[in-house]
Amino acid sequence: MEIPLRGIGVSPGISIGPARMFHVTALDVTAVPIEDPDAELARFDEAVGKSRTALTALKEQTLDELGEKHAAIFQAHIDLLDDVALRPEIERRLREEKLCVEYLVNDLVSSYTKILEQVEDPLFRERSNDLLDVGRRILGNLLEEELESLEHLEEPCIIVAQEVSPSEAANMDLTNTMGLATDAGGPTSHVSILARAFQIPAVVGLRYLGSRISRGDTLIMDGAKGTVIINPREETLERYRAEKERQEKERLALAEAATEGPSVTLDGKEIPTYANVELLAETQPSRRAKCQGVGLYRTEFLFINRASLPTEEEQYEHYRKVMEAMAPLPVTARTLDLGGDKALPTVTAERETNPQLGWRSIRLCLDRPDIFKAQLRALFRASVHGDMRIMFPMITGIDQLLEAKQVVEEVKEDLRARGVAFSEDVKLGSMVEVPATALIADRLALECDFFSVGSNDLIQYCLAVDRANRRTAHLYQPTHLGLLRLLEMTLKAARDADIPCSICGEMAGDPVLTELLLGLGFNSLSMSSISLPVVRAEIANIHMATAKRLARKVLKMGSASEIRALLQERYDARGTLKHLKDRAVTT
Ligand code: PEP
Ligand code: MG
Repeated sequence: MEIPLRGIGVSPGISIGPARMFHVTALDVTAVPIEDPDAELARFDEAVGKSRTALTALKEQTLDELGEKHAAIFQAHIDLLDDVALRPEIERRLREEKLCVEYLVNDLVSSYTKILEQVEDPLFRERSNDLLDVGRRILGNLLEEELESLEHLEEPCIIVAQEVSPSEAANMDLTNTMGLATDAGGPTSHVSILARAFQIPAVVGLRYLGSRISRGDTLIMDGAKGTVIINPREETLERYRAEKERQEKERLALAEAATEGPSVTLDGKEIPTYANVELLAETQPSRRAKCQGVGLYRTEFLFINRASLPTEEEQYEHYRKVMEAMAPLPVTARTLDLGGDKALPTVTAERETNPQLGWRSIRLCLDRPDIFKAQLRALFRASVHGDMRIMFPMITGIDQLLEAKQVVEEVKEDLRARGVAFSEDVKLGSMVEVPATALIADRLALECDFFSVGSNDLIQYCLAVDRANRRTAHLYQPTHLGLLRLLEMTLKAARDADIPCSICGEMAGDPVLTELLLGLGFNSLSMSSISLPVVRAEIANIHMATAKRLARKVLKMGSASEIRALLQERYDARGTLKHLKDRAVTT
Protein backbone atom coordinates (compact mmCIF):
# COMPACT_ATOMS: atom_id res chain seq x y z
CA MET A 1 0.00 0.00 0.00
CA GLU A 2 1.24 3.47 -0.89
CA ILE A 3 2.05 5.50 2.26
CA PRO A 4 2.87 9.21 2.01
CA LEU A 5 4.93 10.85 4.79
CA ARG A 6 5.61 14.53 5.31
CA GLY A 7 8.79 15.98 6.80
CA ILE A 8 10.97 19.02 6.21
CA GLY A 9 12.51 19.27 2.74
CA VAL A 10 16.12 20.40 3.21
CA SER A 11 17.83 19.56 -0.06
CA PRO A 12 15.86 19.75 -3.32
CA GLY A 13 15.56 17.08 -5.98
CA ILE A 14 13.56 13.92 -6.57
CA SER A 15 14.89 10.43 -5.93
CA ILE A 16 13.26 7.12 -6.64
CA GLY A 17 14.93 3.99 -5.32
CA PRO A 18 15.15 1.20 -2.75
CA ALA A 19 15.38 1.98 0.97
CA ARG A 20 18.44 1.02 3.00
CA MET A 21 18.35 1.27 6.78
CA PHE A 22 21.13 2.92 8.72
CA HIS A 23 21.18 3.03 12.54
CA VAL A 24 17.43 2.55 12.83
CA THR A 25 18.01 0.43 15.84
CA ALA A 26 16.87 1.30 19.31
CA LEU A 27 13.40 2.74 18.88
CA ASP A 28 11.53 0.72 16.37
CA VAL A 29 12.26 -2.97 16.67
CA THR A 30 9.22 -5.16 16.08
CA ALA A 31 8.39 -8.33 18.03
CA VAL A 32 8.83 -11.29 15.67
CA PRO A 33 7.85 -14.76 17.05
CA ILE A 34 10.66 -17.35 17.09
CA GLU A 35 10.84 -21.14 17.23
CA ASP A 36 14.28 -21.80 18.66
CA PRO A 37 15.24 -19.88 21.84
CA ASP A 38 18.70 -21.51 21.94
CA ALA A 39 19.58 -20.22 18.49
CA GLU A 40 18.38 -16.76 19.54
CA LEU A 41 20.50 -16.91 22.69
CA ALA A 42 23.53 -17.84 20.60
CA ARG A 43 22.90 -14.78 18.42
CA PHE A 44 22.71 -12.66 21.57
CA ASP A 45 26.02 -14.07 22.85
CA GLU A 46 27.67 -13.38 19.52
CA ALA A 47 26.40 -9.79 19.43
CA VAL A 48 27.59 -9.18 22.99
CA GLY A 49 30.99 -10.65 22.08
CA LYS A 50 31.33 -8.33 19.08
CA SER A 51 30.28 -5.37 21.19
CA ARG A 52 32.87 -6.25 23.85
CA THR A 53 35.65 -6.49 21.24
CA ALA A 54 34.72 -3.12 19.76
CA LEU A 55 34.47 -1.44 23.17
CA THR A 56 37.79 -2.87 24.33
CA ALA A 57 39.49 -1.51 21.21
CA LEU A 58 37.88 1.90 21.77
CA LYS A 59 38.94 1.87 25.40
CA GLU A 60 42.55 1.10 24.53
CA GLN A 61 42.72 3.73 21.84
CA THR A 62 41.24 6.35 24.17
CA LEU A 63 43.59 5.34 26.96
CA ASP A 64 46.57 5.93 24.66
CA GLU A 65 45.33 9.23 23.30
CA LEU A 66 43.43 10.85 26.14
CA GLY A 67 44.24 8.98 29.31
CA GLU A 68 42.42 6.99 31.94
CA LYS A 69 39.65 9.44 32.73
CA HIS A 70 38.20 9.35 29.23
CA ALA A 71 38.81 5.63 28.77
CA ALA A 72 36.69 4.99 31.89
CA ILE A 73 33.54 5.70 29.85
CA PHE A 74 34.19 2.65 27.71
CA GLN A 75 35.06 0.52 30.74
CA ALA A 76 31.67 1.48 32.18
CA HIS A 77 30.05 0.25 28.97
CA ILE A 78 31.96 -3.02 29.12
CA ASP A 79 30.81 -3.45 32.73
CA LEU A 80 27.23 -2.98 31.62
CA LEU A 81 27.66 -5.63 28.92
CA ASP A 82 28.99 -8.04 31.51
CA ASP A 83 26.25 -7.25 34.00
CA VAL A 84 25.39 -10.60 35.61
CA ALA A 85 21.64 -9.96 35.41
CA LEU A 86 21.44 -9.24 31.68
CA ARG A 87 21.97 -12.64 30.08
CA PRO A 88 19.77 -14.67 32.48
CA GLU A 89 16.95 -12.18 32.03
CA ILE A 90 17.20 -12.40 28.22
CA GLU A 91 17.31 -16.19 28.41
CA ARG A 92 14.25 -16.35 30.69
CA ARG A 93 12.21 -14.11 28.43
CA LEU A 94 13.33 -15.92 25.27
CA ARG A 95 12.01 -19.19 26.66
CA GLU A 96 8.82 -17.74 28.08
CA GLU A 97 7.83 -15.22 25.42
CA LYS A 98 9.41 -16.80 22.32
CA LEU A 99 10.02 -13.43 20.69
CA CYS A 100 13.10 -12.38 18.73
CA VAL A 101 16.09 -11.29 20.77
CA GLU A 102 16.28 -7.82 19.13
CA TYR A 103 12.85 -7.03 20.54
CA LEU A 104 13.72 -8.33 24.01
CA VAL A 105 17.02 -6.41 24.19
CA ASN A 106 15.29 -3.23 23.07
CA ASP A 107 12.42 -3.73 25.49
CA LEU A 108 14.71 -4.46 28.42
CA VAL A 109 16.96 -1.49 27.71
CA SER A 110 13.96 0.83 27.26
CA SER A 111 12.34 -0.21 30.52
CA TYR A 112 15.59 0.09 32.51
CA THR A 113 16.41 3.46 31.03
CA LYS A 114 12.90 4.74 31.81
CA ILE A 115 13.36 3.77 35.46
CA LEU A 116 16.81 5.40 35.63
CA GLU A 117 15.55 8.58 33.98
CA GLN A 118 12.94 9.05 36.68
CA VAL A 119 15.58 9.27 39.40
CA GLU A 120 16.53 12.89 40.14
CA ASP A 121 20.23 12.20 40.61
CA PRO A 122 22.15 13.21 37.41
CA LEU A 123 24.44 10.23 37.92
CA PHE A 124 21.55 7.89 37.26
CA ARG A 125 20.60 9.80 34.16
CA GLU A 126 24.17 9.51 32.94
CA ARG A 127 23.91 5.79 33.59
CA SER A 128 20.73 5.62 31.55
CA ASN A 129 22.56 7.16 28.56
CA ASP A 130 25.31 4.59 28.93
CA LEU A 131 22.76 1.81 28.98
CA LEU A 132 21.09 3.17 25.87
CA ASP A 133 24.45 3.30 24.08
CA VAL A 134 25.25 -0.27 25.04
CA GLY A 135 21.77 -1.42 23.99
CA ARG A 136 22.21 0.30 20.59
CA ARG A 137 25.55 -1.38 20.16
CA ILE A 138 24.18 -4.86 20.83
CA LEU A 139 21.23 -4.17 18.53
CA GLY A 140 23.55 -2.89 15.83
CA ASN A 141 25.39 -6.18 15.96
CA LEU A 142 22.16 -8.19 15.95
CA LEU A 143 20.58 -6.37 13.03
CA GLU A 144 23.36 -7.22 10.70
CA GLU A 145 21.51 -6.30 7.58
CA GLU A 146 21.75 -2.71 8.74
CA LEU A 147 24.51 -0.56 7.44
CA GLU A 148 27.38 0.09 9.80
CA SER A 149 28.68 2.98 7.78
CA LEU A 150 27.58 5.08 4.83
CA GLU A 151 31.01 5.00 3.26
CA HIS A 152 30.56 2.09 0.87
CA LEU A 153 27.15 1.08 -0.45
CA GLU A 154 26.86 -1.90 -2.76
CA GLU A 155 24.16 -0.32 -4.91
CA PRO A 156 22.30 2.97 -5.35
CA CYS A 157 19.78 3.45 -2.55
CA ILE A 158 17.96 5.96 -0.38
CA ILE A 159 19.32 6.03 3.17
CA VAL A 160 16.72 5.83 5.92
CA ALA A 161 17.97 6.68 9.40
CA GLN A 162 16.89 7.97 12.75
CA GLU A 163 19.75 10.41 12.62
CA VAL A 164 22.91 10.92 10.59
CA SER A 165 25.77 12.72 12.30
CA PRO A 166 27.83 15.33 10.42
CA SER A 167 30.83 13.01 10.39
CA GLU A 168 28.78 10.14 8.95
CA ALA A 169 27.31 12.47 6.34
CA ALA A 170 30.72 13.85 5.37
CA ASN A 171 31.81 10.30 4.64
CA MET A 172 28.83 9.26 2.52
CA ASP A 173 29.27 7.18 -0.62
CA LEU A 174 28.35 9.95 -3.04
CA THR A 175 27.97 7.66 -6.04
CA ASN A 176 25.37 5.41 -4.49
CA THR A 177 23.53 7.64 -2.02
CA MET A 178 20.39 8.67 -3.90
CA GLY A 179 18.76 10.44 -1.00
CA LEU A 180 18.58 10.84 2.75
CA ALA A 181 15.45 10.47 4.88
CA THR A 182 15.79 10.95 8.63
CA ASP A 183 13.66 11.21 11.75
CA ALA A 184 15.82 13.87 13.37
CA GLY A 185 17.10 17.14 11.97
CA GLY A 186 16.12 20.61 10.86
CA PRO A 187 16.89 22.83 7.85
CA THR A 188 20.20 24.07 9.26
CA SER A 189 21.45 20.89 10.93
CA HIS A 190 24.80 19.93 9.46
CA VAL A 191 23.49 16.85 7.71
CA SER A 192 21.09 19.09 5.78
CA ILE A 193 23.90 21.50 4.91
CA LEU A 194 26.04 18.62 3.64
CA ALA A 195 23.18 17.10 1.64
CA ARG A 196 22.77 20.44 -0.15
CA ALA A 197 26.52 20.71 -0.66
CA PHE A 198 26.58 17.27 -2.27
CA GLN A 199 23.31 17.94 -4.10
CA ILE A 200 21.68 14.85 -2.61
CA PRO A 201 17.90 15.19 -2.09
CA ALA A 202 17.06 15.06 1.62
CA VAL A 203 14.02 15.13 3.86
CA VAL A 204 14.45 15.37 7.64
CA GLY A 205 12.03 15.54 10.56
CA LEU A 206 10.05 12.50 9.44
CA ARG A 207 8.57 10.42 12.24
CA TYR A 208 9.12 6.81 13.21
CA LEU A 209 10.66 5.95 9.87
CA GLY A 210 12.15 2.73 11.17
CA SER A 211 8.78 1.20 11.93
CA ARG A 212 7.22 2.23 8.62
CA ILE A 213 9.93 1.38 6.12
CA SER A 214 11.68 -1.94 5.57
CA ARG A 215 14.84 -2.62 3.63
CA GLY A 216 14.14 -2.79 -0.09
CA ASP A 217 10.83 -0.88 -0.01
CA THR A 218 10.62 1.47 -2.98
CA LEU A 219 10.67 5.10 -1.96
CA ILE A 220 9.97 8.34 -3.78
CA MET A 221 11.55 11.31 -2.12
CA ASP A 222 10.87 14.92 -2.97
CA GLY A 223 13.52 17.04 -1.25
CA ALA A 224 11.90 20.35 -2.15
CA LYS A 225 8.42 19.51 -0.89
CA GLY A 226 9.62 17.43 2.06
CA THR A 227 7.69 14.29 1.15
CA VAL A 228 8.52 10.59 1.12
CA ILE A 229 6.19 8.05 -0.45
CA ILE A 230 6.59 4.41 0.58
CA ASN A 231 5.82 1.73 -2.01
CA PRO A 232 4.15 4.08 -4.50
CA ARG A 233 1.51 2.98 -7.01
CA GLU A 234 2.51 2.76 -10.66
CA GLU A 235 0.70 6.03 -11.59
CA THR A 236 2.50 7.87 -8.79
CA LEU A 237 5.83 6.48 -9.97
CA GLU A 238 5.11 7.61 -13.52
CA ARG A 239 4.22 11.13 -12.38
CA TYR A 240 7.39 11.49 -10.31
CA ARG A 241 9.64 10.05 -13.00
CA ALA A 242 8.42 12.72 -15.39
CA GLU A 243 8.80 15.46 -12.76
CA LYS A 244 12.31 14.26 -11.91
CA GLU A 245 13.34 14.46 -15.54
CA ARG A 246 11.88 17.96 -15.87
CA GLN A 247 13.66 19.19 -12.71
CA GLU A 248 17.00 17.74 -13.78
CA LYS A 249 16.87 19.44 -17.16
CA GLU A 250 15.96 22.68 -15.48
CA ARG A 251 18.78 22.43 -12.96
CA LEU A 252 21.37 21.81 -15.69
CA ALA A 253 20.05 24.71 -17.72
CA LEU A 254 20.13 26.99 -14.65
CA ALA A 255 23.72 26.13 -13.86
CA GLU A 256 24.74 26.77 -17.47
CA ALA A 257 22.90 30.08 -17.61
CA ALA A 258 24.68 31.35 -14.46
CA THR A 259 26.60 34.48 -15.37
CA GLU A 260 30.29 35.11 -14.62
CA GLY A 261 31.58 37.98 -12.53
CA PRO A 262 30.25 40.06 -9.69
CA SER A 263 26.59 40.13 -8.79
CA VAL A 264 25.25 43.66 -9.10
CA THR A 265 21.87 45.15 -8.14
CA LEU A 266 19.66 46.96 -10.67
CA ASP A 267 21.06 50.27 -9.46
CA GLY A 268 24.68 49.18 -9.68
CA LYS A 269 25.64 48.12 -6.15
CA GLU A 270 28.05 45.20 -6.17
CA ILE A 271 27.22 42.42 -3.71
CA PRO A 272 29.83 39.64 -3.94
CA THR A 273 28.38 36.15 -3.66
CA TYR A 274 30.57 33.47 -2.16
CA ALA A 275 30.29 29.73 -1.68
CA ASN A 276 30.30 27.78 1.58
CA VAL A 277 32.64 24.83 1.30
CA GLU A 278 33.14 21.86 3.59
CA LEU A 279 35.43 19.65 1.54
CA LEU A 280 38.08 20.14 -1.12
CA ALA A 281 35.81 18.27 -3.57
CA GLU A 282 33.31 21.14 -3.41
CA THR A 283 35.69 23.76 -4.79
CA GLN A 284 35.14 22.78 -8.43
CA PRO A 285 31.31 22.70 -8.29
CA SER A 286 31.47 26.09 -6.50
CA ARG A 287 33.57 27.55 -9.29
CA ARG A 288 31.21 26.10 -11.86
CA ALA A 289 28.36 27.80 -10.01
CA LYS A 290 30.28 31.08 -10.58
CA CYS A 291 31.00 31.93 -6.94
CA GLN A 292 33.29 34.91 -6.37
CA GLY A 293 35.28 33.08 -3.74
CA VAL A 294 34.68 31.03 -0.62
CA GLY A 295 33.01 32.98 2.18
CA LEU A 296 33.01 30.09 4.65
CA TYR A 297 35.42 27.19 4.55
CA ARG A 298 34.36 24.78 7.33
CA THR A 299 37.81 23.39 8.12
CA GLU A 300 36.57 20.98 10.80
CA PHE A 301 35.47 18.48 8.17
CA LEU A 302 39.12 17.54 7.69
CA PHE A 303 39.22 16.54 11.35
CA ILE A 304 36.20 14.29 11.62
CA ASN A 305 35.98 10.67 10.50
CA ARG A 306 39.43 9.68 11.59
CA ALA A 307 41.09 8.04 14.53
CA SER A 308 43.69 10.76 15.11
CA LEU A 309 44.05 14.47 14.44
CA PRO A 310 45.55 15.55 11.11
CA THR A 311 49.13 16.71 11.48
CA GLU A 312 50.17 20.27 10.65
CA GLU A 313 51.75 18.99 7.46
CA GLU A 314 48.64 17.18 6.34
CA GLN A 315 46.53 20.24 7.10
CA TYR A 316 48.92 22.48 5.19
CA GLU A 317 48.74 20.25 2.12
CA HIS A 318 44.96 20.24 2.27
CA TYR A 319 44.56 23.99 2.79
CA ARG A 320 47.08 24.64 0.02
CA LYS A 321 44.97 22.58 -2.39
CA VAL A 322 41.84 24.51 -1.44
CA MET A 323 43.65 27.85 -1.92
CA GLU A 324 45.05 26.77 -5.27
CA ALA A 325 41.69 25.46 -6.45
CA MET A 326 40.10 28.84 -5.72
CA ALA A 327 42.96 31.23 -6.62
CA PRO A 328 42.87 34.10 -7.36
CA LEU A 329 39.48 34.27 -5.64
CA PRO A 330 39.44 34.88 -1.88
CA VAL A 331 38.91 32.11 0.67
CA THR A 332 37.68 32.81 4.20
CA ALA A 333 38.86 29.90 6.31
CA ARG A 334 37.07 29.41 9.58
CA THR A 335 39.17 27.98 12.37
CA LEU A 336 38.03 24.69 13.89
CA ASP A 337 34.38 24.58 14.85
CA LEU A 338 34.33 21.20 16.56
CA GLY A 339 32.03 20.19 19.38
CA GLY A 340 28.26 20.64 19.50
CA ASP A 341 26.87 18.20 16.95
CA LYS A 342 30.28 17.92 15.28
CA ALA A 343 31.74 15.86 18.09
CA LEU A 344 35.19 14.39 17.67
CA PRO A 345 35.58 11.44 20.05
CA THR A 346 39.36 11.81 20.25
CA VAL A 347 39.05 15.41 21.48
CA THR A 348 35.53 15.82 22.82
CA ALA A 349 35.07 12.45 24.49
CA GLU A 350 33.39 13.80 27.61
CA ARG A 351 29.63 13.60 27.33
CA GLU A 352 27.95 16.97 27.78
CA THR A 353 24.36 17.60 28.82
CA ASN A 354 24.09 20.61 26.50
CA PRO A 355 26.73 20.19 23.81
CA GLN A 356 25.49 23.22 21.86
CA LEU A 357 26.19 25.36 24.92
CA GLY A 358 29.29 23.50 25.85
CA TRP A 359 32.90 23.02 25.00
CA ARG A 360 32.86 23.79 21.32
CA SER A 361 34.46 25.92 18.68
CA ILE A 362 36.79 28.71 19.78
CA ARG A 363 36.34 27.65 23.43
CA LEU A 364 37.84 24.27 22.64
CA CYS A 365 40.64 25.83 20.55
CA LEU A 366 41.68 28.27 23.27
CA ASP A 367 41.78 25.42 25.79
CA ARG A 368 43.81 23.27 23.42
CA PRO A 369 46.52 25.61 22.06
CA ASP A 370 48.37 22.59 20.65
CA ILE A 371 45.48 21.90 18.26
CA PHE A 372 44.74 25.58 17.60
CA LYS A 373 48.36 26.56 16.88
CA ALA A 374 48.96 23.61 14.56
CA GLN A 375 45.91 24.64 12.55
CA LEU A 376 46.91 28.31 12.46
CA ARG A 377 50.46 27.44 11.39
CA ALA A 378 49.09 25.29 8.56
CA LEU A 379 46.63 28.00 7.49
CA PHE A 380 49.24 30.77 7.49
CA ARG A 381 51.65 28.63 5.54
CA ALA A 382 48.90 27.98 2.97
CA SER A 383 48.08 31.71 2.82
CA VAL A 384 50.84 32.30 0.25
CA HIS A 385 48.93 30.18 -2.27
CA GLY A 386 46.01 32.56 -2.72
CA ASP A 387 43.97 35.25 -1.04
CA MET A 388 43.18 34.03 2.48
CA ARG A 389 41.13 35.48 5.31
CA ILE A 390 40.69 33.78 8.65
CA MET A 391 37.71 33.98 11.00
CA PHE A 392 36.95 32.63 14.45
CA PRO A 393 33.65 30.83 15.19
CA MET A 394 31.41 31.25 18.27
CA ILE A 395 33.20 34.32 19.62
CA THR A 396 31.20 35.52 22.62
CA GLY A 397 33.38 38.27 24.10
CA ILE A 398 36.21 40.75 23.57
CA ASP A 399 38.62 38.81 25.79
CA GLN A 400 38.12 35.71 23.71
CA LEU A 401 38.74 37.56 20.44
CA LEU A 402 41.88 39.21 21.87
CA GLU A 403 43.13 35.86 23.13
CA ALA A 404 42.59 34.26 19.70
CA LYS A 405 44.42 37.16 18.05
CA GLN A 406 47.25 36.78 20.54
CA VAL A 407 47.63 33.13 19.56
CA VAL A 408 47.74 34.23 15.91
CA GLU A 409 50.52 36.71 16.76
CA GLU A 410 52.51 33.96 18.50
CA VAL A 411 52.12 31.67 15.49
CA LYS A 412 53.22 34.41 13.08
CA GLU A 413 56.19 35.24 15.30
CA ASP A 414 57.21 31.61 15.35
CA LEU A 415 56.91 31.29 11.54
CA ARG A 416 58.92 34.50 11.07
CA ALA A 417 61.64 33.29 13.44
CA ARG A 418 61.93 30.07 11.45
CA GLY A 419 61.91 31.89 8.12
CA VAL A 420 58.70 30.18 6.97
CA ALA A 421 56.79 32.12 4.30
CA PHE A 422 53.28 33.37 4.99
CA SER A 423 51.14 36.28 3.89
CA GLU A 424 51.25 39.32 6.18
CA ASP A 425 47.92 40.54 4.74
CA VAL A 426 45.63 37.86 6.14
CA LYS A 427 42.61 39.70 7.56
CA LEU A 428 41.13 38.40 10.81
CA GLY A 429 37.39 38.34 11.36
CA SER A 430 34.89 37.39 14.01
CA MET A 431 31.79 35.37 13.36
CA VAL A 432 28.64 36.69 14.96
CA GLU A 433 26.72 33.61 16.08
CA VAL A 434 25.62 34.41 19.62
CA PRO A 435 23.27 37.22 20.75
CA ALA A 436 25.89 38.56 23.19
CA THR A 437 28.27 39.01 20.27
CA ALA A 438 25.75 41.11 18.37
CA LEU A 439 25.07 43.13 21.53
CA ILE A 440 28.75 44.09 21.86
CA ALA A 441 29.42 44.25 18.12
CA ASP A 442 30.37 47.95 18.39
CA ARG A 443 33.32 47.04 20.62
CA LEU A 444 34.27 43.87 18.79
CA ALA A 445 34.30 45.72 15.49
CA LEU A 446 37.25 47.78 16.77
CA GLU A 447 39.26 44.59 17.23
CA CYS A 448 38.75 42.77 13.94
CA ASP A 449 38.88 43.33 10.20
CA PHE A 450 35.45 41.94 9.30
CA PHE A 451 32.32 40.28 10.61
CA SER A 452 30.55 37.25 9.22
CA VAL A 453 27.15 36.42 10.64
CA GLY A 454 26.57 32.73 11.27
CA SER A 455 22.80 32.94 11.23
CA ASN A 456 22.31 29.21 11.75
CA ASP A 457 23.67 29.45 15.26
CA LEU A 458 22.53 33.01 15.83
CA ILE A 459 18.89 31.96 15.30
CA GLN A 460 19.40 28.89 17.49
CA TYR A 461 20.78 30.92 20.39
CA CYS A 462 18.57 33.98 19.92
CA LEU A 463 15.34 32.00 19.87
CA ALA A 464 16.48 29.15 22.14
CA VAL A 465 15.59 26.61 19.43
CA ASP A 466 17.85 23.65 18.73
CA ARG A 467 18.64 23.91 15.02
CA ALA A 468 18.53 20.13 14.62
CA ASN A 469 15.33 19.37 16.51
CA ARG A 470 12.41 18.24 14.38
CA ARG A 471 9.82 19.12 17.00
CA THR A 472 10.81 22.75 17.31
CA ALA A 473 11.63 23.29 13.63
CA HIS A 474 8.56 25.55 13.19
CA LEU A 475 9.94 27.88 15.88
CA TYR A 476 13.23 28.30 14.05
CA GLN A 477 12.33 31.56 12.31
CA PRO A 478 14.83 33.60 10.30
CA THR A 479 12.27 36.43 10.10
CA HIS A 480 11.81 36.74 13.87
CA LEU A 481 12.09 40.41 14.82
CA GLY A 482 14.47 39.52 17.66
CA LEU A 483 16.92 38.12 15.18
CA LEU A 484 16.47 40.98 12.71
CA ARG A 485 17.26 43.46 15.47
CA LEU A 486 20.48 41.59 16.25
CA LEU A 487 21.40 41.74 12.56
CA GLU A 488 20.63 45.45 12.48
CA MET A 489 22.87 46.09 15.53
CA THR A 490 25.71 44.07 14.06
CA LEU A 491 25.52 45.85 10.72
CA LYS A 492 25.42 49.30 12.32
CA ALA A 493 28.49 48.45 14.41
CA ALA A 494 30.32 47.26 11.28
CA ARG A 495 29.38 50.42 9.35
CA ASP A 496 30.44 52.70 12.21
CA ALA A 497 33.81 50.95 12.44
CA ASP A 498 34.09 50.83 8.66
CA ILE A 499 34.54 47.07 8.41
CA PRO A 500 32.63 44.76 6.02
CA CYS A 501 29.94 42.43 7.29
CA SER A 502 28.96 39.27 5.45
CA ILE A 503 26.42 36.56 6.24
CA CYS A 504 27.26 32.88 5.75
CA GLY A 505 24.41 31.02 7.48
CA GLU A 506 21.70 29.33 5.43
CA MET A 507 19.65 32.56 5.38
CA ALA A 508 22.10 33.87 2.78
CA GLY A 509 21.04 31.16 0.32
CA ASP A 510 17.30 31.75 0.62
CA PRO A 511 16.32 34.00 -2.30
CA VAL A 512 13.13 35.08 -0.51
CA LEU A 513 15.33 36.81 2.08
CA THR A 514 17.82 38.39 -0.33
CA GLU A 515 16.09 41.76 -0.66
CA LEU A 516 15.84 42.12 3.11
CA LEU A 517 19.49 41.14 3.68
CA LEU A 518 20.64 43.69 1.12
CA GLY A 519 18.35 46.34 2.57
CA LEU A 520 19.69 45.69 6.07
CA GLY A 521 23.17 46.37 4.71
CA PHE A 522 25.10 43.12 4.24
CA ASN A 523 28.09 43.69 1.96
CA SER A 524 28.32 40.12 0.71
CA LEU A 525 26.49 36.79 0.94
CA SER A 526 28.00 33.32 1.30
CA MET A 527 25.93 30.20 0.68
CA SER A 528 25.76 26.59 -0.42
CA SER A 529 26.71 26.61 -4.11
CA ILE A 530 23.36 25.07 -5.05
CA SER A 531 21.74 28.42 -4.14
CA LEU A 532 24.16 30.64 -6.05
CA PRO A 533 22.36 30.82 -9.45
CA VAL A 534 19.03 31.92 -8.05
CA VAL A 535 20.40 34.29 -5.40
CA ARG A 536 22.71 35.93 -7.94
CA ALA A 537 19.77 36.37 -10.30
CA GLU A 538 17.68 37.79 -7.46
CA ILE A 539 20.38 40.37 -6.61
CA ALA A 540 20.34 41.46 -10.24
CA ASN A 541 16.58 42.03 -9.88
CA ILE A 542 16.72 44.25 -6.78
CA HIS A 543 16.96 48.02 -6.31
CA MET A 544 19.06 48.98 -3.29
CA ALA A 545 16.88 52.00 -2.55
CA THR A 546 13.72 49.87 -2.43
CA ALA A 547 15.49 47.18 -0.41
CA LYS A 548 16.47 49.76 2.22
CA ARG A 549 12.88 51.00 2.44
CA LEU A 550 11.73 47.40 2.81
CA ALA A 551 14.21 46.79 5.66
CA ARG A 552 12.96 49.90 7.49
CA LYS A 553 9.37 48.74 7.09
CA VAL A 554 10.10 45.19 8.23
CA LEU A 555 11.91 46.40 11.35
CA LYS A 556 8.68 48.14 12.35
CA MET A 557 6.60 44.98 11.91
CA GLY A 558 6.23 42.35 14.63
CA SER A 559 5.08 38.95 13.44
CA ALA A 560 7.64 36.58 11.94
CA SER A 561 5.02 34.98 9.71
CA GLU A 562 3.76 38.34 8.43
CA ILE A 563 7.31 39.40 7.62
CA ARG A 564 7.92 36.14 5.80
CA ALA A 565 4.65 36.52 3.88
CA LEU A 566 5.55 40.05 2.80
CA LEU A 567 8.99 38.94 1.59
CA GLN A 568 7.50 35.96 -0.23
CA GLU A 569 4.92 38.15 -1.94
CA ARG A 570 7.58 40.55 -3.17
CA TYR A 571 9.81 37.69 -4.30
CA ASP A 572 6.96 36.07 -6.23
CA ALA A 573 6.06 39.40 -7.82
CA ARG A 574 9.61 39.87 -9.09
CA GLY A 575 9.40 36.41 -10.65
CA THR A 576 13.18 35.94 -10.62
CA LEU A 577 13.12 32.17 -10.73
CA LYS A 578 10.67 32.11 -13.61
CA HIS A 579 12.74 34.60 -15.64
CA LEU A 580 15.87 32.64 -14.86
CA LYS A 581 14.29 29.40 -16.02
CA ASP A 582 12.93 31.03 -19.18
CA ARG A 583 16.36 32.44 -19.92
CA ALA A 584 17.96 29.06 -19.23
CA VAL A 585 15.59 27.33 -21.62
CA THR A 586 16.19 29.79 -24.45
CA THR A 587 20.01 29.90 -24.12
C1 PEP B 1 26.26 29.33 11.23
O1 PEP B 1 26.13 29.00 12.41
O2 PEP B 1 25.44 30.04 10.61
C2 PEP B 1 27.43 28.88 10.46
C3 PEP B 1 27.67 29.36 9.27
O3 PEP B 1 28.22 27.91 11.00
P1 PEP B 1 27.78 26.35 11.10
O4 PEP B 1 26.52 26.19 10.29
O5 PEP B 1 28.90 25.55 10.59
O6 PEP B 1 27.55 26.19 12.57
MG1 MG C 1 27.84 28.14 13.44
